[in-house]
Amino acid sequence: MSTYTRRTLSTLVLLAAPAFGGLAGDPLRVVTTIPDLADLVREIGGERVEVSSIARGKENLHAVSARPSHLVAMSKADLFVEIGRSLEVAFVPGLLEGARNQRIRPGAPGFVNVSEGWEFLDVPAELSRKAGDVHPQGNPHLNLDPRAGRHMAERVLTGLVRVDPDSKDAYQARFEAYCARLSEAEARWKAQAAGWTGRAVVVYHQEFNYLASASGLAILASVEPKPGIPPTPNHVARVIADMKAQGCKVILTAPWSNDNNLERVAEATGATIVELPNQCGAVKGSETWISMMDVIHQRIGSALSAPR
Ligand SMILES: [Zn+2]
Repeated sequence: MSTYTRRTLSTLVLLAAPAFGGLAGDPLRVVTTIPDLADLVREIGGERVEVSSIARGKENLHAVSARPSHLVAMSKADLFVEIGRSLEVAFVPGLLEGARNQRIRPGAPGFVNVSEGWEFLDVPAELSRKAGDVHPQGNPHLNLDPRAGRHMAERVLTGLVRVDPDSKDAYQARFEAYCARLSEAEARWKAQAAGWTGRAVVVYHQEFNYLASASGLAILASVEPKPGIPPTPNHVARVIADMKAQGCKVILTAPWSNDNNLERVAEATGATIVELPNQCGAVKGSETWISMMDVIHQRIGSALSAPR
């Protein structure tokens, strides 16, 4: 966000919505960066929370733009929940600064980073944004890890209890009910991925690395030369050659990245393009985190089992 935009947004907030906390008995006001986190907050918070998400489901999460309505929501929020690890660096720092809400500043009780304590993949030896890489601190897409549901839900629970300790028992009970559903779903995904070990796929962006690590899929190449760097003709030609050499017939992508570069690769290799949600709501039927993981497993499963 530019300084100008930030100042304009701040002025709007001051004029339209002076920051004030929730009245006793009112639902907690929660803002999350992505719909996946809003779903988890709803699952654990139930009727005690009123939650909105900044990203809506279709965006490239590295390029979400902040709007004045987001800033208004942030200025009134009791709790803010993000994935962290630089995933939302394009919009969160500007919104936090502009919202001037001390309750949700990093380090305050109302700030939750769900990736805290997570073991990240692809962490570079040296932290930098060299050459525009948008994963400078390792792969931040843990919302696409079928093993991450409990980890994220636990951090949401901790945050809710911190800002609303009186409702602890209710949150804890809903968390446990959710974890029971999660265990069933995890068993389902494991069964669906049985037999995927070593199957080669190509991805557009390095979003599905945790999914690959959980399911045994082998990521042969990315159509982006580096996370956030658009494909070049030379790189695309190399990807096509690698796919032909390895007999790779599946390309994983998300709606935001399903462009003509992928059509070119698919045409040259006879591969199938599999469009997957990169966040809840990105494709039909993926509105909750569990249903999103179901869609991901179903779509990959049918692409891998299609006759070659
Ligand atoms: Zn990324």
